[in-house]
Amino acid sequence: MLTLRGRLTAAFLAVAFGPILLGAVFVASTVTAVDRSRATERLAVANAAVRTSIDALCQQLRAAADAVALAVDHPGAASQVVSRGLAAAVQVTDVAGRVGVATANAPPAPWRDCAEPGRPSGPVAALAVRVELRDATGARLGTVTAAQPVDPLLVARLAAVTGVAVTLLDGVAPAVTVAHSTESDGGREAVLAAAATLPEGRVTSTPEGRFLRRAGPAPGQPLPLVLSVPSDQPAGLYPVLVAVVLLAALLGVAVAWRLARVTTRPLVELAGAVDRVAAGDLTARVPVRSGDEIGRLAGAFNRMTRDTGGYLAALASSRDQLRGHLAVLGDTLASTHDLQRILRVILHSALAATGARAGAVLLTEPGGVLVAQCTEGLDDGRWTGSGPPGVPLGSGVVGAVAATGQPCRGRAEADDAPPGEPRCRTYIAVPFAAPEASGLRGPGGVRPGEDAPPVAGTEPPARPLGVLALYDRLGGEEFDDDDLVTLRTFAGHVAVAVDNVRVHEEAQRLSLTDPLTGLWNYRYLRESLRREVERASRFGRMVSVLVLDLDRFKTVNDTYGHAAGDTVLAEFARRVRGEIREVDLAFRQGGEEFVVLLPETDARGATIVAERLGAAVRNTPVPVLGHAGVQESIAVTVSIGIAVYPDHAATGLRVLEAADEALYAAKAAGRDTWQVAAGVSRMTDPADGGAAGARAVRAAPPSREMSVSVATRSPADGLPRAGPGTDPGAPAEHDEPG
Ligand code: GH3
Ligand code: MG
Ligand code: MG
Repeated sequence: MLTLRGRLTAAFLAVAFGPILLGAVFVASTVTAVDRSRATERLAVANAAVRTSIDALCQQLRAAADAVALAVDHPGAASQVVSRGLAAAVQVTDVAGRVGVATANAPPAPWRDCAEPGRPSGPVAALAVRVELRDATGARLGTVTAAQPVDPLLVARLAAVTGVAVTLLDGVAPAVTVAHSTESDGGREAVLAAAATLPEGRVTSTPEGRFLRRAGPAPGQPLPLVLSVPSDQPAGLYPVLVAVVLLAALLGVAVAWRLARVTTRPLVELAGAVDRVAAGDLTARVPVRSGDEIGRLAGAFNRMTRDTGGYLAALASSRDQLRGHLAVLGDTLASTHDLQRILRVILHSALAATGARAGAVLLTEPGGVLVAQCTEGLDDGRWTGSGPPGVPLGSGVVGAVAATGQPCRGRAEADDAPPGEPRCRTYIAVPFAAPEASGLRGPGGVRPGEDAPPVAGTEPPARPLGVLALYDRLGGEEFDDDDLVTLRTFAGHVAVAVDNVRVHEEAQRLSLTDPLTGLWNYRYLRESLRREVERASRFGRMVSVLVLDLDRFKTVNDTYGHAAGDTVLAEFARRVRGEIREVDLAFRQGGEEFVVLLPETDARGATIVAERLGAAVRNTPVPVLGHAGVQESIAVTVSIGIAVYPDHAATGLRVLEAADEALYAAKAAGRDTWQVAAGVSRMTDPADGGAAGARAVRAAPPSREMSVSVATRSPADGLPRAGPGTDPGAPAEHDEPG
C-alpha cells in the first residue's frame, strides 16, 4: 500500500512535473509545425523560382528557334544562335523529318518539349522548343528545334537560383533513379525514397529531417524535379527537450519528496507518539513546529496526553488511597470482635466522607439509654455535663432518632445542647438497628433475656442498636441529602459490626455454659482450673476444689421421670450459685456431677462451704411435676469431695482427681456428706467423725499452718509458681468470659 508520503510525492509530481512535460510536448510540436510551415513556404517560393527559370529558359529557346526560322535561308543562322549562347543546339528538319541543318554538340535524346504537358515522368536529357517553318503561303516547310541540355550545370543553376537543393529524377515509377542532384550523396537516397511516388506539388519530410517537394513535370515545367531543404529546427532539439524533461522530473521528484517529507514529518511524529501512548507511555510528546492545522493537532495531542497523565496519576493515587482503606478495613475485619476499633474506623471514615468535624457512635445500653461508645473531635468542653452521659431513648435529638428510627439533620438553634448531647452548629444523626437475619434473636428481634426497649413514634425500629451522629460540617453548611445517604451506609456498617460482636459474645458464652443449669461447662472448668491454680501458684495462695454428686439420682429419674430429674438438676444449680461467693465458680461437669472452685480458700473454708451446700440441698425438697402432672416434692442429698491446691496435688487436674477420690470416699461413707482428700495425715480427725449421724467420716478443718506435702517451691527468681509439672491438658489462656 502506498504511504501518505508516497501519495503526496505522487501528487506533487503530478502537479509540478505534468505541466513541464506538457510544455515540452507543446514546444516540440510547435517547433515542428513552424519548421514545417517555413519549409513548405521556402519550397513553394523555390518552386515558383524553378518555374520562372524553366520558363525563361524555354522563352530563350523559343527566341532562338524563331530567330533561326526567320533566317532559315541564311546558312550560318543556327550556328550564330548557338554561338551566342541562346541555345546549346539547333536543328532544322524538313516536313519528312529529315535533318537539314544541325549544329554540333547536340545533346543526346530524349529531348523534352517545353510546350509538352506534364507527363508522369521519364528520362529527360534536354529541353527543347520547336517552331514550324512555313512559306509565304503558310504551307509547312519543316521544323526548327532549339535545345538546351538538362545537365548537372542546369540543375546547379536552378539550385543556385532557388536556394534549395534540386534533384532531377530519371526513369518511370517505380523504377525511378536520380539523374542529377545537388543533394549530398546520402541525401539523394533519402530524397529518392521519399519523393519517388510523391504527387506533384506535395511536401513531405524525410526521417533525416529534410523537407521535400515534388516540382514537375507539370504544364509549363516539364522537368521531374524534387526540391529539398534541410529542417530549420535547431539541431538536437529533441534530445535537449528530453534532457530538460528528465532533469525536471528528477528535480520534481526531489522537491516532491522533500515537500512530502516536510508535510508528513509531524504526522509521522504524531503517529509515533500515538503508538507510544497506545503502549502505555503517557509521557509521549510531539514537537509543535508551527501554528498550522498540524501544529494545532500536535498541541491538542500534547494537552490530551498531559491531562490523561494527570487523570491517571489522580486515579493511581485514589487507588492507593483505596488500598490504604482496604488495608484498614482488612485490619478492622481481622479484629472482628474489637468493637471499639471497628467503631473508631467507621466513625473516622464517616467523618472523612462527609467532611464533618466531630462525631459519635452511641449504642443502646440495657435500660434504654444511649451511651457514646466512640467519639471523635468532641472534647469534654463540648458536652453540657461532665463528659458524655447517657441519653434516654426518646429524649433530645439522638434519643428521638433512636426511638423513631427516623434520621434527623439540621442546624442547632441555640448555643446550648439537649442534655447528654454535645454543643454544635450543624448536626446529622442516623439510627441503626440490628440486621434482620441474626440467629440469636427471638421473635420481634429481641434476644432472650433482653427487654424490648420502649419506643416512640409511628414506625418504631425493630431493635434500635444505636445512633451515628456527626457534628459541624466543614464550611458551616448544613448536612445535605447526600451526606444522609452516605451516613446511612456507615450506620449500616456499624449495625452489622455491633450485631456481629454481640452475636459473637453470645456464642462464646453459650460455648462455655451448660444450657440446662446455666453453670459453666466442663470445657470452662478445665480452663478455670488451670488459670486459678496458676494464679494461686504465682501468689502463694490456695484453691479449693469441690466435686459434688447427687445421691441416688438414678432413682429420681426412675421414679419421677427424666424431666423431673432435669428440674432437680436446675434447682440444685440455682442453690449452689446462691451459696457461693462472687469470685467462686460453679460448673456442671456432666450428668449430675458438679464442681465448685473456691479461689483463695483452704480446706477449712472449703469444708464450711461443703457443709452449707449439703444443707441447702438437704433442707428443702425440690418441687417437681411428677408423672401424671402431679406436683410432688423430692428430697435430694449431695455427696461432696474436697481437695486443695497445693495441699493435695501440684496441678489442677490432679487436685480434681483428688477431690473425685474424696467424693468416692464420701459415697462410701454413706452419702449426704463431704470428705477431704487424703494425703495429709493431720487433716483427718476420726474422733470428731461420728458427731452427725449420716456424716460418718468428717475431715477436720485444716489449719493454715499445716505442712504441705506437694507444694510450691521457690525457684531461683524467687517467684512462686505452679508445681513441678505443667498441666498438659490445660487449654490456652483465655480471657474471662463475659
Ligand atoms: P450415687 O451417685 O449416689 O452413687 O447414685 P446415682 O444414682 O446418682 O448413680 P450415678 O451417679 O451412677 O447415676 C447418675 C444418674 O444420673 C444416671 C442418669 O439417670 C442420671 N442423669 C445423668 N445426667 C442426667 C441429666 O442430665 N438429667 C437427668 N434427669 N438425669 C441425669
Ligand atoms: Mg454420678
Ligand atoms: Mg449420683
